[in-house]
Amino acid sequence: MNYPRVEIDLNKIKHNTKIVIDICNKNNIKVVGVTKGFCGKRRIIQAMIDGGIKIIGDSRIENLKNNRGIRLPKMLLCLPMKSRVKEVVKYSDISLNSELDTIKEISKTAINMNKTHKIILMIDLGDLREGIFEENQIYNIINNIINLKGVSLYGIGTNLTCHGGVIPDEKNLGKLVKIKEKIEKRFEIDIDVISGGNSSSIYLINNGNISKQINQLRIGEGIILGRETAFGNKIKNTYDDCFKLVTEIIEIKNKPSIPIGNIGVDAFGNKPKFQDKGIIRRAICAIGKQDVNPFDIIPDDKDIEIIGASSDHLIMDVTNSKIDYRIGDVISFRLSYGGILSLMTSRYVSKLYI
Ligand SMILES: *Cc1c(COP(=O)(O)O)cnc(C)c1O
Repeated sequence: MNYPRVEIDLNKIKHNTKIVIDICNKNNIKVVGVTKGFCGKRRIIQAMIDGGIKIIGDSRIENLKNNRGIRLPKMLLCLPMKSRVKEVVKYSDISLNSELDTIKEISKTAINMNKTHKIILMIDLGDLREGIFEENQIYNIINNIINLKGVSLYGIGTNLTCHGGVIPDEKNLGKLVKIKEKIEKRFEIDIDVISGGNSSSIYLINNGNISKQINQLRIGEGIILGRETAFGNKIKNTYDDCFKLVTEIIEIKNKPSIPIGNIGVDAFGNKPKFQDKGIIRRAICAIGKQDVNPFDIIPDDKDIEIIGASSDHLIMDVTNSKIDYRIGDVISFRLSYGGILSLMTSRYVSKLYI
C-alpha cells in the first residue's frame, strides 16, 4: 500500500456511531449518518450501518448514486440543483429544500418516475446559509407543497454553525418548534420530522436543553471525529483518530530557517513569512496543498512543527524531535474534519481500511 495514505479504522467508526446514536436515541432523536466527510466511501458507510445508522445523508448526489445498492433511505443534504433534479429523485428519497421552483421540478420528475419524494423544508434561523428566512414565505411554500403530487412534506429543518458560526440554542431551535406547531394548526397536518441541525446540536442533548420535539439530527463530524462542533468538545467515550494520515519522508537535511535571497511570492501567490531559528533539521514529505491544507493535519510526534507546504511538498521542522528521522521513514498525523474531507477527496492519497 502506497504513501501518502489515509488509514481508516472501521471498528472505531462503528464504535463512535453507536455512542452518538445512543446519546440521541435516549432523547428520541434519530440520527442521519452524514457521509460527505469521507466521499461516501462504501466500507465506512457500512461501519456506520453496523453501528446502527438507518438513514444516510450526503451533500453530493454522486456519493448517493455510488451507494444506490445500500437499501436504506438516502437524504440529499445540499439543496438540489434544478438542472439535476432527475438524479435527485432517482438516487435520493429525501432532500432538503428551500426553493418552490425546485420543489415543483421535483414534483414533476417524481410523477414521471412514479415516485414520491420526501421534502424537508429548510428554515434559516440566522446562520445565513440555506433556508427560508421570512416566516410568511414558509406558509406560502407549504401551501404549495401540500397541493403538489409526487412530493410529500416530510418535515422542517435547519442548519446552523456551518457558515455563520451561530450556535443552536433554546431560542433559535425553539423558534423552529413554534413554526412546526403553527404549520400543523394552520394546515391541519402532522409534521413527522423536525431536523434540528448537525453535530453542533449535540451539546444541547448533553446539557438537557434540546426541545423534545426535535426528533432528527444529521451527524457527520460527531461520528467520524467524536466531536460536538458548537464548542469543539470531545464526545465522551469516542475516538478522535478513526482517520490517520501517514506520509513518507523524501528529504531530511539541516538548512537555515529563513530563505536566502529576495523574497517574492510563494507557489500560491502569498508572500511567505519565516521566523529565524538558525539552522534547523527539515523534513519533507510527499503530500501538499493539492491534497490537504497543511494546518488541518496534526503530527503524532508532538515535537514536530509544520512549516508549510507547496502543492505537493510538506515541509516540517523536526529539530526538537526525539526520533532520529531517516529517509524513507514515515510521519503520521491526526486530522481535522477539513483534513479528512480533502484527503479523502484526493485521488493521490491511498485509502487503507483497518
Ligand atoms: C454537512 C451537513 C451536515 C453534517 O454536519 P456535521 O457538522 O458534519 O455533523 C448536516 N446537515 C447539512 C445540511 C450539512 O450540509
